[in-house]
Amino acid sequence: MQEFNDIRRSVKALCANFPGEYWRALDAERRYPTEFIAALTQAGFLAAMIPEEYGGSGLPLLAACVILEEIQSEGCNASACHAQMYTMGTILLHGSNDQKRKFLPDVAQGKLRLQSFGITEPSSGTDTTAIQTSARREGSFYIINGQKVFTSRVEHSDLMLLLARTTPRDKVHRKSEGLSVFLIDLREAVGRGVSLQPIRTMMNHSTCEVFIDQLHVPANNLIGDVDRGFRCILDSMNAERILIASECVGDARWFIRKAADYARERNVFGRPIGSNQGVQFPIARAYAATEAAALMVQKAATLFDARQPCGTEANIAKLLAAEASWQAADMCLQTHGGYGFAEQFDVERKFRETRLYQVAPISTNMILAYLGTHVLHLPRSY
Ligand SMILES: Cc1cc2nc3c(=O)[nH]c(=O)nc-3n(C[C@H](O)[C@H](O)[C@H](O)COP(=O)(O)OP(=O)(O)OC[C@H]3O[C@@H](n4cnc5c(N)ncnc54)[C@H](O)[C@@H]3O)c2cc1C
Repeated sequence: MQEFNDIRRSVKALCANFPGEYWRALDAERRYPTEFIAALTQAGFLAAMIPEEYGGSGLPLLAACVILEEIQSEGCNASACHAQMYTMGTILLHGSNDQKRKFLPDVAQGKLRLQSFGITEPSSGTDTTAIQTSARREGSFYIINGQKVFTSRVEHSDLMLLLARTTPRDKVHRKSEGLSVFLIDLREAVGRGVSLQPIRTMMNHSTCEVFIDQLHVPANNLIGDVDRGFRCILDSMNAERILIASECVGDARWFIRKAADYARERNVFGRPIGSNQGVQFPIARAYAATEAAALMVQKAATLFDARQPCGTEANIAKLLAAEASWQAADMCLQTHGGYGFAEQFDVERKFRETRLYQVAPISTNMILAYLGTHVLHLPRSY
C-alpha cells in the first residue's frame, strides 16, 4: 500500500523505541507491553478509525491496515492492542448515540481501553451460535451467566464486548438469532460476577478464561437490538479479518527481510548461503506469496471503506496472508539454521506469534468452508 506513507514513517519511528530486547524480555516474563500500548495510544494510532466527531482521526480501514502491518514488519507485536480497532466498529455501527457519546471519546483519548471481546466458549468453539452464556432481562438489568475462553487482553482492558444468548436456540427460527451483544464495564464487573483465569499459551498473548456468575449489566449496555447481536459481530468480523491479514503481511515482510539479510551475510562453504538456490528460492517464493496476499488485503480494505460487501475478500485476504506469514516464518527459521532457534535472533518468537493466525480469530478450515459454501455453492458440511 503506497498511500499513507507519513503514517508508515511515524509508526516505524515509534517502533524503533521498542527493539527486539524489549519484546524478548516481555516474552520471558509473560508481561503485557504497557509502554508500547501507551506510546501507540498517545500517538493516536489506536484511535485511527474513530470518527473525528468522537475525538479520533476518522481514517479509513486502509490506514489502520498500514499501522498494523508496519508494527509487525518492524518486529513488534500489535496483538496486544489490535482489537480496539475493530471492536470499536461494533459500537460505532450498532451503538446508540448515547453509547457512542459516552464511550468513544474516552476510548479515542486512551482514557478507556476497549481491548477485549468474549465470543469463544469451551463447549462451542468455532460454532458460535452454540454458545451457552445466557443473558436474562430483569427490570433495568440483564443477568448474565456463563463462561468464555481465550478472552485476550481482558486483564488489561476497561471494557469488554460480550456475546450472550438472550433467546434459547430451540426458540428461534435461525440459530444465528437470539444472540445479543453487551458492553461490560470490567472495572465494575471483575470481582462482582466476573472472575478471570489466565491461560499460558505458546506466545505471550494475555488470554484468559472468564467465569460469569450472576453478573448484573445495565440494560442500556446492550449494543444494537436484542436477539440481533450476531449481525453486529459479523459486521466487525470483516474488519478484524482484514486488519489481522495486514498484520500477517507485516510479519511476512519481517521474516523475508530478516532471512534475506542473513542469507547475504552468512558464509558457509566459502560463499553466502543465499547463493544456493535451495536457500534463495524459498525466500523468493515467500516474497511472491506475500505480495499476492498484500494485494488481496488492499482489495478487501478498499471494498470495506467503500461500504461494499467484502466478506469473501476479507476471508481470502486472511487466508492468504496467514499462509504467507507462516510460509515466511518457516523459511526464515530454516534459513537461519540453528540460530533460528536462538532467542536473541527473534525468529523463534515471531515464528510462535504468527502461527496463531492459522487458528484465530478464525481457522483456515472455516474460511475454506465459507468459500466452498457461500461462494462456490457446494453443500454445507455443518
Ligand atoms: C491465543 C488465542 C487468543 C484468542 N483470543 C480470543 C479472543 O480474544 N476472543 C475470543 O472470543 N476468542 C479468542 N480466541 C479463540 C479462537 O477464536 C478460537 O480458538 C478459534 O475460533 C477456534 O476455536 P476452538 O479453539 O474452540 O477450536 P474448535 O472449534 O474446537 O476447532 C478445532 C479444529 O477443528 C477444526 N474444525 C472445527 N469444525 C470444523 C468443521 N466443521 N470443518 C472443518 N474443520 C473444523 C477447526 O478449524 C480447528 O482447526 C483466541 C484463541 C487463541 C489460541
